[in-house]
Amino acid sequence: MERSVGERAKKPRRKGAIRSRITALEETNGEYRTKDAPNPTESRGYRVRKVERHEKGNGSGEMDRKPNPYRRRRRRLFILVLAVAAVTVLAVVIFVHGSNKGTAALNSVQAGSGNSHSVDVQSLLKKGIRPNELGMVMILEYHRIAATEGSFTRSIGNFKRDLETLYAKGYRLIKYSDFLSGHINTPAGTTPVIFTFDDSTVSQFRYIDQGGKKVIDPNCAVGMMEAFYHKHPDFGCTAVFSYLPSLFEQPGMGKEKVEYLASHGFEFADHTVSHIPLGKLSDQDVQKEIGASISNMKSIDPNVKVDTLCLPDGVMPKNHDLMFHGSYNGATYNMKWVLLVGSNPLYPQYHYKNPGAELPRIQAMDYDPQTGKGTDGSGYWLAYFDTHPEQRFISDGDPSTICAPGYMQPRLLSGRLPKGVYFAGYEQR
Ligand SMILES: [Zn+2]
Repeated sequence: MERSVGERAKKPRRKGAIRSRITALEETNGEYRTKDAPNPTESRGYRVRKVERHEKGNGSGEMDRKPNPYRRRRRRLFILVLAVAAVTVLAVVIFVHGSNKGTAALNSVQAGSGNSHSVDVQSLLKKGIRPNELGMVMILEYHRIAATEGSFTRSIGNFKRDLETLYAKGYRLIKYSDFLSGHINTPAGTTPVIFTFDDSTVSQFRYIDQGGKKVIDPNCAVGMMEAFYHKHPDFGCTAVFSYLPSLFEQPGMGKEKVEYLASHGFEFADHTVSHIPLGKLSDQDVQKEIGASISNMKSIDPNVKVDTLCLPDGVMPKNHDLMFHGSYNGATYNMKWVLLVGSNPLYPQYHYKNPGAELPRIQAMDYDPQTGKGTDGSGYWLAYFDTHPEQRFISDGDPSTICAPGYMQPRLLSGRLPKGVYFAGYEQR
């Protein structure tokens, strides 16, 4: 009695039959057949006959043919080949679909959320922009600005040149707090850079009298930054001032300057009250240095956020915990960040190589490749990123995505991304 196809399918299979069949497969002229099956030509002929039979079929699914010892094996082999072909086609479709997305509006994922977002990577790639928001960023460190260059002093001429050089090389100022929180909003193709000024000297922010009117000195850091910003608004105008009690050294103007800076997008860091290297002090005095400095700022402007300690001379206290938590005069303090002195760029906080809470900075200084002078400074690192562009942070212009070549995704700490910000990977070509 002949079995219907359905009955045949229901027949219990010998345990291990599929495995032995697969291991018995060998490739012949691009087709698979079992070792004991007839040659591929016969196999192909069988399939043609089968199709003809279905076309002429009586609807019962009955197979009206003579018994054939190879028929069952051939049929199973055919189904296996069909299944392999189907899986292959499916895989190709998925791959092509994925590639298209990779070069067009590449899909993005915030790991673990299941949400998606897209950024138009294709149009950026067409413009030659290869976003890498898992690259490195520089926090530059300035001290005094003066007529002539010197130790911890940037000349007025060199400061202006720094602004021009950074702008020309595609760097754009970003708020320190935005960079740390992962809210990175710089134009597509540019690299964020952060300015910090230590010691709140008058050379950083000076008021002068001009015809009976008080104006910002065009040759102090704030004056030069604002003038450059008016010429190039896309460069940005922001910085962190690590303040001492002298607050820019013009008596009676400290409060006014703090309020001006706070209302113009600048930020502040606690640089202690005496600028003594904290490693030399007792635990009690360390807390006094930090705590009293915060109290000073709060008495001037209670709205100014102070969550960063800028270490005098870059020296840590013996008890490192006191950089972050302590109390003075009945008030506790809690810092989130510590600014170091020198001497390398850093990865964003959502990169697995982030520096944690202790943030390295780069002195603004020139580099002389002949003598090696200034290898810790900005001149060296600017040259480094010119020759290692793949290490440099390149923005996608969209603050809601962190965009980078897809292979970099394992470097991402998705839990450190701000709410509503997603990773967008794209394929390299
Ligand atoms: Zn200092």
